[in-house]
This record gives sequence, structure tokens and C-alpha cells, in this order.
Amino acid sequence: MTEILNCDLAITNAYILTLDDDFTEFAPGLILIRNGKLVYVGPDQPYAPRYKTTETINARNKLVMPAFFNAHNHAGMSIYRGLGNDLVLDDWLNRFVWPMEAKFATPENVHLGTLLSTMEMIRSGTNIFADMYFFEEEVARAAEEIGMRVILGEGILNFPTPHFDNAEKYFTYLEQMVTQYRDHSLVGISISAHAPYTCSDELLKRVSELAAYHQVPATIHLAETQWEYDSYMERYGKTSTQYLADLGFFDHHVVAYHCNYLSETDRQILKQSGSGVATITHSNMKLASGVCPVKDLMNRGIPVAIGTDGPASNNNQSVLMDMRSSVLLQKTIEKDPTVLDTHTAIRMATSNGAKAYRMENQLGSLEIDKQADLIMIDTDQPHWQPMHDVYASIVYAMLPSDVETVIVNGRVIMKDRKLLQVDEKKILHQVKTLMKKMNQ
Ligand SMILES: [Zn+2]
Repeated sequence: MTEILNCDLAITNAYILTLDDDFTEFAPGLILIRNGKLVYVGPDQPYAPRYKTTETINARNKLVMPAFFNAHNHAGMSIYRGLGNDLVLDDWLNRFVWPMEAKFATPENVHLGTLLSTMEMIRSGTNIFADMYFFEEEVARAAEEIGMRVILGEGILNFPTPHFDNAEKYFTYLEQMVTQYRDHSLVGISISAHAPYTCSDELLKRVSELAAYHQVPATIHLAETQWEYDSYMERYGKTSTQYLADLGFFDHHVVAYHCNYLSETDRQILKQSGSGVATITHSNMKLASGVCPVKDLMNRGIPVAIGTDGPASNNNQSVLMDMRSSVLLQKTIEKDPTVLDTHTAIRMATSNGAKAYRMENQLGSLEIDKQADLIMIDTDQPHWQPMHDVYASIVYAMLPSDVETVIVNGRVIMKDRKLLQVDEKKILHQVKTLMKKMNQ
């Protein structure tokens, strides 16, 4: 007698892009989910296995694929969206971000801002974001409420943050967070140094040692601007990347954000250390910070993922849109349309994030035993048809609002564009009320 697969959720009649190593597709395809994991991904009738399910979603005319991975964000900063545009980074930080944070970066506002960001991210098909901000316990709370994954990264700098007036408190807090979220189904941890130039050598060393001790990634903004490159060369005769390497920062797993100004040695350091990179395209274009050498890094085998950066500098949270801009920008600066193809672009927005954070055994593709994190997309729309090349449709034509349904850890958290775990209207109202206070 054939075995019957018991499951919690079945997705039938789908056009499935697994994004596995071979880009396997199934149409019509079937997905079976049990306890948050994929127990079957393959052909639907007449080749489907026998199964029993509690719930079924008919995905006729829907595309089903892995959700997008946002490899870098400051989600709580959505409350500052639109403040101080068209300025250089230094000016924007000094005149707008830091003074506003001094007044408004409270636990309540970080929670509210993160809820706003997570709503936006889910609506554009993202299941996970790596965060770097303050009051990260509030970030975790918001992500749990909405049902999304997060990799927390409480940011440390040389000067007092809205959360801590000294580094000792920061490290005590981090130890607690690592213990609290070890083996959590949705929340992971990274140890985040803000940037080489905002942290002392001692802080950088401690961040790296703590990350190594707990076997979690150390994360950092790196080689973002020409100023950073020039000032390190002038002061130390080496780049900020080499400076960190000499401190031992790359002795353990690092995910570096931006990486726009890298020497040949820097690129070798990233490769040899097994680091991941998040390219931050919209924010870097808006602030005219620079361009990450994406193709060269990927040719070396470094996983380059897509990060949106915070909503204050981007100003949107869609990995899809940042992926598109990344591809178009790389083609433009390299003066070569073949430099990044559609398959590579989709990998950057999905599995490369998982690889950068060493989560590829759980996320990034739809394969049996991986986590059931996926999106369903409505392709029965003018801008999707005719669909001669589905990957080209995703990279060049898809809109964030085409995502209809989002499943994270086997749970449906958005269905037919409705967020199921939070009261969206209420949160939007709270944000508007806060904006009035900020403008007083
Ligand atoms: Zn950032």
C-alpha cells in the first residue's frame, strides 16, 4: 500500500519555480507543508503522491517561488522615511537622522517603525530581513507579531546609542539576546558593529570575539564611501577592509554591507574569510555613495545578496525593486548587458541571502526539508503576459504588489493581499499620529 503524506497545507495547481541548483520547475506543481517544512515539492496530479491535508490553496494561474531575502535593513527607521532627501551621507546623518533619533528612537517607536517596515516587506514578498538598529528586542517582537523572520543586529558604536550609554551594557544585553533567541523558529542573531570608523579597535575585536563564541555572524557597514576609503589610506596606509582584517575581524563569519570601494586585497580577504556581502543599491544611488563590484565578487564565489538598507535612506523596502536596480546599474556601469543575467539576479534576491548568512540549508529554494517560506504571485495581469521567459518577467516586469500570498514557516501571513496577523489600518493610523508629533 502506498504511504499517505499527512500535511497541514497543500498548494495545488501551482506553477512552481523551485530555484534549486538546476532551476527545476513544476507546472502544474504541488507543495505539501507539515510543521513549517516542505515535505513534498513536485508534480501535481496525475503524478502527485497520496496525501491528507488540513487546508488547501488552489494556485491556478499563480506563480509560486521562494520569498525574497532582505540582507540588510534598519527596519525601525521607517518613521524617518522622507526626512532629509538629496543630501550627502554625512549631512543627512548629522542634520536629520541623528537629531531625530535623539528624540524619537524609543522602544515604542522602534516597535511601531518595525511593524510598518515588516508590513511593507511582506507585501512585496519578503520573508526575512537582517536588521541593524537599536532596541532589537522590539524588532524581534514586531517580527514575531507579524509572523516574519528576522536576524537581529543591535548596533554598537563608540558613542552612546539611544539604547545604551556604555558598551558594557551593550555586551550584557547581547548575551541575554543570544540566550533568549537560541533555536527560535523565527528570530536569529547577529552581532553588529556599525562601521569601522564609528567603532574603536577594542569594540571591533569584542564584536568579532562574541560572534565567534556564539557562532553567529558579525555584521558591519563596510567600504561604503570614497571618504571611508581615502581616510583609511591617508591615516593608516591601508583600506578599512584591510584594517579590520589586521584586527582579526575576518577570522570568523562576517556579512559586510555596501562594499563599494574594495582593493584587490580586500576582495581576497572577503573571499578567503568566507564572508557574505549585501549590495545596497537604491540607498547608495540616492546618496551617491558608490557601486559594489557585484560581478567580480560573485565571480570569486562570494555570495552577494540584496539589502534594501533602512527606509530612511532607500526609501522603500522592496527587495524586488532593489534587485532590479542592481541589475540595471551593473549593466550600465560595466557597459555590458551580459554582466548579470536574470537567473543570477533572482539568486541574489533569494538564495544568496541565505548563503551570505549560512542559512542555505533552511531557506532560499523550495526543496524538501527546507522551511516552507514562499510567495504566490498573480501572473494573470497585462505586465506579465505573454510569459515567454518567467525569470525575465520577475526581474524586469514584476511589481511588488503582484505578491498575493506569503507563507513563512508554513504559516500563511498574507492571503489575497490581506495581512492576517496584524491590524494594518491601526498601525498606519499610529504612524500618522506619530508623524504629527515629529513635525511639531
Ligand atoms: Zn545600513
